[in-house]
Formats: sequence, C-alpha cells, structure tokens
Amino acid sequence: TAILQKQDQEIFEAIRNEERRQTETLELIASENFASKAVMEACGSVMTNKYAEGYPGKRYYGGCEFVDVAEDLARERAKKLFGCEYVNVQPHSGSSANMGVLFSVLKPGDSIMGLDLAHGGHLTHGSSVNFSGQIFNAHAYGVDRETGLIDMDKVEEMALSVKPKLIICGASAYSQGFDFKAFREIADKVGAFLMADIAHPAGLIAAGLLNDPMPHCHFVTTTTHKTLRGPRGGMIMMGKDFENPLGITVKTKNGPRTKMMSEVIDAEIMPGIQGGPLMHIIAAKAVAFGEALRPEFREYAVQVRSNAAAMAEKFISLGYDIVSGGTKNHLMLLDLRNKGVTGKVAENMLHAAGITVNKNMVPFDDKSPFVTSGIRVGTAAMTTRGMKEQEAATIVELIDRVIAAAASGDDAEKVCAEVKADVKQLCAHLPLNDFGPT
Ligand code: PLP
Repeated sequence: TAILQKQDQEIFEAIRNEERRQTETLELIASENFASKAVMEACGSVMTNKYAEGYPGKRYYGGCEFVDVAEDLARERAKKLFGCEYVNVQPHSGSSANMGVLFSVLKPGDSIMGLDLAHGGHLTHGSSVNFSGQIFNAHAYGVDRETGLIDMDKVEEMALSVKPKLIICGASAYSQGFDFKAFREIADKVGAFLMADIAHPAGLIAAGLLNDPMPHCHFVTTTTHKTLRGPRGGMIMMGKDFENPLGITVKTKNGPRTKMMSEVIDAEIMPGIQGGPLMHIIAAKAVAFGEALRPEFREYAVQVRSNAAAMAEKFISLGYDIVSGGTKNHLMLLDLRNKGVTGKVAENMLHAAGITVNKNMVPFDDKSPFVTSGIRVGTAAMTTRGMKEQEAATIVELIDRVIAAAASGDDAEKVCAEVKADVKQLCAHLPLNDFGPT
C-alpha cells in the first residue's frame, strides 16, 4: 500500500477508510464475509495481467502454463468440496453463473419458475428488472402467508400449469433448507431442468450441514464470496455430466456427435457470455476451496449456524417476528411491523450505531422495496471474526436497543452513539486477525 499511497492518495484513503469501517463496525449483511489474507493475496497477484480465453490445456492465448495450474487446482478442489463431476470456475459473478445455465438450456420466451424476489428469491431467478425475467417467461412461486415456508403443493400446481423448461430453487433471504428431492420430482413430472442456486448457503452445504443439491439437481450454481468465504465470483457445477437433450451437436471426423452438457455450459460461459477469465480471482477461488477443505472450515460453518440459531432465539425472546419462525442456516429475515419501524429506518439507525444490515422486503410486504418492512441479518462475517453464541445474544440486545429507540423516537441519537461505542468495544476484543484486510 506504500506505493498506492504515493501514487493515488484518493483511492488509498478510500481503501483505508473501508478497512477501518470493516474493523470497527459489526458486519451482519448475510451475503458478506471476510476473505482470508491468503485469498486476498491471490486476488492482488500478477495473474490479473493474464489473458486466458478458453479452458486449461485449450487456450486461445500463449503463456497460460501457470494460470492453467491455478484453474486446474480450483476445479479439482471444487469437485472434492462439493462432490461433483463437473465445475466451471470462470463465471465472474453469481449472476453470470446463472446466466450461463439459463442461456445453455433455454431459448427466448421459454417458461421458467423461480422463487419470488419479494419472498426471498434473487433477481436472476426471473425478476422483471433482470435478464431472467425479460428474456424468458418467468413465473414466481412464493412462501405460505402463515408459515413463511415454500409451499411445495403450490410449486407443483404451478409447474403442472405453466410447464416450465427450467425450475430454479435457491434464495437470498430464506432461512430454511430446500427439499431438492421434492423439487426434482416436480421437475421430472413436467420435463423441466432443475437448477439449485446455493449462493448463500454454499459454505454450509460444503460442510455437510444442509441438504445436498448435487444428487438431485441438473445444475448447481453458487457465488464464492458468501458463506464459502472466497473471493467475489461465481461457479457452475453438475453432480453428474450428461448428454444434452437439446439436440446440440458438434462436428467430428465421424459425423456429428451430441455434446455433453458440460461442453454446452463451457461454451456458453466462453465465448457465449464472457471473454477472458479473471485468473487472479480463479487462483483466489482455488485458495478458498483449499481452506474450505480443511477441518477448521467445518468448525467455522457449524459455528455460523449456531450463532444464527442463538440470534434467532434471542430475537424471538424479545418479541421479534422472524419469517418462517426461525433459521436453519446463516441468516434470518425480521419482519419489523410489530415493532413500529420500517426496514429503511432500521437500516439507517443501525448504521448510525455501527451495525451493518440491509433492509429487505418481507413476504406479502405492503411497503416499497426502497422502504420495506424488514431487515436481513446473517452471521457469516461475525463468525469469521471469532464471535460465538454469547456475542450473538449481545448483538441482538444492541440491535433491540436501537430499534426500540427508533420506534419511540426518544433519545434515538444518544442511544445510537452509546451502542456504537459498545460495538467498537466488542469488535476491539475480537480483531480481524488472520482474516480481513488488516
Ligand atoms: N444468487 C443468489 C441466491 C444470490 O443471493 C446472489 C447475490 O446476492 C446471486 C445469485 C448473485 O451473485 P452476484 O452478486 O455475484 O452476481
């Protein structure tokens, strides 16, 4: 950083301030984590300089012998970690990974099904403001108003009526597991492909703590930077490769041959939607997968889940309404309507108190996405800092103090300042140490 400081004071300062923010405040955004120093060293390495269009051993550029080593290691480690036969580690993001699968198996106008964005789904699962909802004929299934759980009977009913080509299961704000087997049975009934997007719980799935999508889904996509704790990026996996049933062939000396699905997806990622892969990020993915294969990562994942359970229990004891009644993973969605504050106000007040969360729509929300009735809280980042159940309960008390002050309007500023000091102290006891940017 000495060189950056000399050359570009403005960016140096922005990074230094971000470093301080990450160090001194509580990170509870469910999709964030602190990558290790080793992961960040790979991200900041000379591999950023290399063009490597193509795949290991089959590149369009010379000089790829060392980036090939990195990509091969990333692929081998990912296969071991998730128990899959095929992986493509090149998608620049989770959204690109999903685009890769959708473009591989669908034609414009084909029907798809995904979880409603307002019920916890992701933009790329068919939202009208995203390519997935604009190019394809998207139908959104939801959660039950009473239980907050995905209603599989309704999923089946919708599948039978819209006959989708692809069903997507997975979410950004759903605190329960997915019944991949039941989804596959529905997909098989209507001849649909099934894709699981495990972006959020990938680390917990890798650790064997949640249902495994691999035996049941045709495709599994993920981001690498959430509970998996790697660099920002995406990937596509298949438990088992298979001959594509779409009639896509490749010319050979002996005539046309049906392409394997893996070949279709590889070609869709590059040259279909991407050019040169981010080889520094792929190297960092390999480092992160190496970390996730160690026994310590399983301990980490177990703690992430225990911390979330402890938080949920404490929230419930203080009268908070958690959508679906609790959590089985690393996150929970709080419906704040009974507390008299909106998601927007809660997010802003908590920010003033040094606690970072995001406002979030709750199912059947009556407020706009800019206001919302809820907040989403996750434990992946705080657990990386070494926080345990006791800190989780303390954090809930701090959140409650801020929300109570926000609702009553009494001394809100003073309460935020007090909580901010408490947060700073809590963080000082548990430095980012090996993890994080310091
Ligand atoms: N899929 C799910 C379920 C997500 O939660 C996210 C990100 O929040 C993504 C995909 C997209 O990932 P990215 O932000 O890397 O495009």
